[in-house]
Amino acid sequence: MTKADYEKLLKRIQDKISEKQTDTGERFELPSPNVMWEGQRTILHNFMDFAKKLRRDPDKVLQYLAKEFATPAERSGDKAIFVGRREPHDFVNLLNIYVKDYLECPTCKSPDTKIERENRITFLICEACGAKSSLKGKYA
Ligand SMILES: [Zn+2]
Repeated sequence: MTKADYEKLLKRIQDKISEKQTDTGERFELPSPNVMWEGQRTILHNFMDFAKKLRRDPDKVLQYLAKEFATPAERSGDKAIFVGRREPHDFVNLLNIYVKDYLECPTCKSPDTKIERENRITFLICEACGAKSSLKGKYA
């Protein structure tokens, strides 16, 4: 391999890397669940990281998980504790559904949305396209 070839290759690799970086910067990605088990309980250590990333009320997010798991749950600082044994992918699956139902703008699919309440109706306001849509679920 000549020096020029080598430099070309290097350039290509660097381009790939910077491509990747912009990708992850734009895409909405949830943290990985940090799950531990204590007896018959599951502790999600980084629960608050999810609530912050989702920008939703932590209590509502917890209620949602508890309802979907059909199990009691409680918060303890930044952690959430669930009765029963849950795998990290159980959290990933559920939270991805939560993102679809409670974050994604129906118009442009952006997850950059916020909640607004008027009277007793909850609206999803999209910060990307400005669309305002009513939200049916009660865990926002
Ligand atoms: Zn939108």
